[in-house]
Amino acid sequence: MSFYTKLKEINTLSFDELFENVTNRDVEKVLKKDRLSEQDFMTLLSPAAENYLEEMAQKSHEITTQHFGKTMQLFLPLYLSDYCVNTCKYCSFSVDNDFPRRRLSMEEIEQEAKIIADMGIKHIILLSGESRMHSSNAYLKESLKVLKKYFSSIGLEIQPLDTEEYQELVDHGIDGLTVYQEVYNEEIYAGIHTKGPKRDFKYRLDTPERGAFAGMRSVNIAALLGLDDWRKESFITGLHAAYLQDNYLETEVGVSFPRIRPNAGDFQPKVDVTDKNLVQALLASRLFLPRSGITISTRETPEFRDQLIPLGVTKMSAASSTVVGGYTEPDATQSQFEISDERSVKEVKELLLAKGYQPVMKDWHILS
Ligand code: SF4
Repeated sequence: MSFYTKLKEINTLSFDELFENVTNRDVEKVLKKDRLSEQDFMTLLSPAAENYLEEMAQKSHEITTQHFGKTMQLFLPLYLSDYCVNTCKYCSFSVDNDFPRRRLSMEEIEQEAKIIADMGIKHIILLSGESRMHSSNAYLKESLKVLKKYFSSIGLEIQPLDTEEYQELVDHGIDGLTVYQEVYNEEIYAGIHTKGPKRDFKYRLDTPERGAFAGMRSVNIAALLGLDDWRKESFITGLHAAYLQDNYLETEVGVSFPRIRPNAGDFQPKVDVTDKNLVQALLASRLFLPRSGITISTRETPEFRDQLIPLGVTKMSAASSTVVGGYTEPDATQSQFEISDERSVKEVKELLLAKGYQPVMKDWHILS
């Protein structure tokens, strides 16, 4: 079984027509329900639902508080390497972009870890460009020996791996997997991923499932908003998350809403996704997926992130660097993309407390 089978079915739908045919009355009916069907989810992503964002926000806030309390988990990304073998038109690390590449040594990883841990952060995500040679399992296992001294939860956002490879990393202390499909439209996917193993759409699509099967405690998925119609992409992301939840009951499934940011290749998004669009996607997803974690990163501005806090978000990054070695030396090399919110962890924590939210630095501890 694979989500690919479901995706083939979804692709037979006439999205434009379905979204346009939704009426205000349809939206009002959905807002009275406790559990939403796939059809209801689509209704909340429609243009008609734009008139009901206030009602959706109230409901989303209630549901999120019921399931998560007024808490916000804080985490940071740690970039290990910017070597990549793929060409992705929207990313600075693309193999075609010429800049001095870097991979951290164990000493450099420890230095970065100390700086992050000193900020009070206990959850990190290890990131790298996609290169089996530079971010091999052997290298990651060495890194974990260092990092487990500092962090209680360590997630992974690197090249997709086979199930056994994930199992090996779970055994050594990795507990979460983040993998973005980028775009669920296979044709657009082929047009922007022009070189490298990432061209294999189905292998990437099945990656979250391999991670869940391998025993990852959490799996986080997303579409990169701006590559295709955001309503359709958000709908498919929600269905993909529901598929994973239904098949892997012990895995915490989360979704993110990354929008394309400026990058070294000057790629321009096909679709302009406004703040209002992003809010609608987030609210509809929360109402369809009441148990899912929802992450908002520092791609978004401080003002916008502040507004999103009560709407259903459960995880935020803070004081992030998207540069390899960037906590030790901020301008060491090329960033993967520009960030918009440069506030410190302390400032974000103070803001959360002022809004009545408890910042959570640690809710899990690696046992191995
Ligand atoms: S998005 Fe990932 S795979 Fe694509 S170029 Fe960037 S780092 Fe490499």
